[in-house]
Amino acid sequence: MGKQTPMMEQYLKIKADYQDAFLFFRLGDFYEMFNDDAINAARELEITLTKRGGSDGIPMCGVPYHAAENYIKTLIDKGYKVAICEQVEDPKTAKGVVKREVVQLVTPGTVMESNMLKEGENNYIASLSHFQDGSYVIVYNDLSTGENNITVISHGWDAVIHELYNQPIKEIVISSNLPEDLQTKLRDRLHVTLSYQDEITFNAEYRNLAENLNDERLMKAFSRLLNYIQHTQKRSLDHLQPANVIELKHYLSLDMYSKRNLELTETIIKKGKHGSLLWVLDQTVTAMGSRLLKKWLERPLLDKKRIENRLNVVDAFYQRFMERDTLRDTLKSVYDLERLAGRIAFGNVNARDLLQLKQSLEKIPELKATLNQFEERQIQTLSTGLKYPKELIDLLNTSIIDNPPISIKEGSIIRDGYNEVLDTYRDASRNGKRWIAALEKKEKQETDIKSLKIGYNRVFGYYIEITKANIHLIPEGRYERKQTLANAERYITPELKEKEQLIIEAEEKSVELEYNLFIEIREKIKEHIPELQYLAEIVSKIDVLQAFATVSEKNNYRRPYFVENKLNIINGRHPVIEQVMKDGSFVPNNVSLDENKNILLITGPNMSGKSTYMRQLALAVIMGQIGCFVPCDEAELIIFDQIFTRIGAADDLVSGQSTFMVEMLEANHAIANATDRSLILLDEIGRGTSTYDGMALAQAIVEYIHNNIQAKTLFSTHYHELTVLEESLEKLKNIHVRAEEFEGNVVFLHQIQEGAADKSYGIHVAKLANLPEALIERASTILQELESSDKPAPTTEKIESGQLSFFVGETEQVKERNKPIPATEEKAIDELKSLNLFEMTPMEAMNALYRLQKQVKM
Ligand code: ADP
Ligand code: MG
Repeated sequence: MGKQTPMMEQYLKIKADYQDAFLFFRLGDFYEMFNDDAINAARELEITLTKRGGSDGIPMCGVPYHAAENYIKTLIDKGYKVAICEQVEDPKTAKGVVKREVVQLVTPGTVMESNMLKEGENNYIASLSHFQDGSYVIVYNDLSTGENNITVISHGWDAVIHELYNQPIKEIVISSNLPEDLQTKLRDRLHVTLSYQDEITFNAEYRNLAENLNDERLMKAFSRLLNYIQHTQKRSLDHLQPANVIELKHYLSLDMYSKRNLELTETIIKKGKHGSLLWVLDQTVTAMGSRLLKKWLERPLLDKKRIENRLNVVDAFYQRFMERDTLRDTLKSVYDLERLAGRIAFGNVNARDLLQLKQSLEKIPELKATLNQFEERQIQTLSTGLKYPKELIDLLNTSIIDNPPISIKEGSIIRDGYNEVLDTYRDASRNGKRWIAALEKKEKQETDIKSLKIGYNRVFGYYIEITKANIHLIPEGRYERKQTLANAERYITPELKEKEQLIIEAEEKSVELEYNLFIEIREKIKEHIPELQYLAEIVSKIDVLQAFATVSEKNNYRRPYFVENKLNIINGRHPVIEQVMKDGSFVPNNVSLDENKNILLITGPNMSGKSTYMRQLALAVIMGQIGCFVPCDEAELIIFDQIFTRIGAADDLVSGQSTFMVEMLEANHAIANATDRSLILLDEIGRGTSTYDGMALAQAIVEYIHNNIQAKTLFSTHYHELTVLEESLEKLKNIHVRAEEFEGNVVFLHQIQEGAADKSYGIHVAKLANLPEALIERASTILQELESSDKPAPTTEKIESGQLSFFVGETEQVKERNKPIPATEEKAIDELKSLNLFEMTPMEAMNALYRLQKQVKM
């Protein structure tokens, strides 16, 4: 490139520091982009690409600064970063090129503007650091709320992905030394923007945030994130909260597969909240509560005491409908204190926000009063936590007027009496206006012109207006003419202009002063941020607990009781399907597992409800461990340490793995990590491969769990042959979903019963799906052939010396069932089938039967 203009030189110099972002370069009323940035932005934003300095100039495009927010949002939503470069000196007084600097780097993980955030969802930026000892440390920060969470993962990379999966993370800050393949996995599996921060220095300004961190690794990981935030935001953030260390061993662990399969917070297919467990449970009325609920769902508890504490509150709220309703009503008018605190620290609140803050805080006495009607210790604790922030409310009450405008730069924000100087300006302006009103009256009288009036406009200021018809009545030399209209003349007098000067001066000064006072008030409120955050924490807890009570009452859930080693649910239901069906036709079922029978092998036709039954157990366990009631009539639950699921879901398209590979990965994950306190759900394992393979694997997996893990397990299978395992595996019990045949069609009763199902009804399902008649018939024939041919049955031989042997032995029962039918019998059956009874006399029928019986008796 040839010689650049000084401004382009400046641009290129700044751009060099922000290679991975769009540089929004402020030029007058526009943000301009050049070169590749311009080409890419024109495409992503659908704006016109032009050339600077004629047709052979460099590519350029721009957006008006006042509309920039929407364009920035579009780019951020697509995962890009935007560096905002402003003019940092007054162009009028600048010598040479105006000085410009990047004032903020907006990134997907660091947005603060409320229109770029989802109300009920956190917006995390995370950092991931790896250490010599093989451990990883993850820090989560939500810049909009200031929360900082930190957790150590010491069992390998996979666990990192399992932990990060499903968290609302938009961006991950890593070291550029993180191995390339791991970076790719982060990008592909989690769909997040990756950012790099290699330099790590702990900023002493943030010492108080790190008091909980007694480990070198945690400090380093936390610093990585803080350094990145400082580097991008370029301002101090007073609302960041002390880092909260999350010990993963204190929470029920759900691997990535289970989080996805169980559709806790979003559905697999549509990726939305609708249809997820969160969708059913979210009866929160504040955005803070909605965010907390999601966090609780991601991390069910293990500590019985903590669970019972939550349940006690839910129970009390459940019982007392009226108080709960009052509570909900009060909570509805509590604004998002957590994000508000963030925006106060960030400096982007207006007077209306502060008014909403005040109105929210004024609800605290009401909340406390409602809570105080309950005796429960846990509710008392919540009430005590709600401290009335008197000082803050006083400040807001005395400073902000009741109906402030959106802008903070046009005055009319601050109350009279808050600031003496402001009061004198306002007096001056009000006195001036009063003087003008008096003048109008006086002039009317003295000139005897009834229609004389004093008006004001921005260009001419105050004037006396007299209609053309009355001009002749003005005494000679009384006024000075200023402007002529179609049917009136406007005049001024020296003393009117003098007063005007005073009024305008006072107003200008008061607008400026009001702005400064507003900033001062905002700074004062900053000192109350920790108080606000604490209030937010308690309010959101109350909200989630009332939501549990509300949904439990609405949908007839029951309080679970936790016992050792025995799980018993009477009339359990699937919380989501039950809602979707709406008509109350969901069929409830029992589940029972204990030390003697810890594996349930579920058979039954397709579409009968096997998967639903398994899922509903996992959901009941999770609901119980987050402190919510459970959809059933009675529940005795075990506190599980982990849940593993392999539930037939769509192929893992993201990673391009086949169903079978995913199946095996998930099964392996369960087997490698489960304990006797875990819950394993294996749904139709082995389906993704050929029959023998699949059945062999399925059996081996059940045996392995039975003999080596002893986890509570639900295992559904379409391999009917596996039901004989009940004989060899002492702790395995067969159950099945009942179906009945009615006039050649199968009717699903969705009822779980003891024992094995008698056959598979796949073809009937095909019939239900309206496959062609001929095709169905053909399938039936093939099935008959298959069922009558010799086929392998599973071995029930005990596994010896770690060797697996498949299909070498047969039980008597299986042998009997699989014995080939003699040709004569087959012929007789065929003939029996072909008899047309309606065209036979009773005698002919009798004869035919006699003959056939003789054939097979031979
Ligand atoms: P399977 O795993 O046996 O093939 P699913 O569990 O997928 O069957 O259930 C198939 C459909 O049957 C579900 O989508 C649901 O609509 C219905 N269903 C399942 N369980 C019940 C139940 N207990 N009550 C009513 N309908 C049910
Ligand atoms: Mg199924």
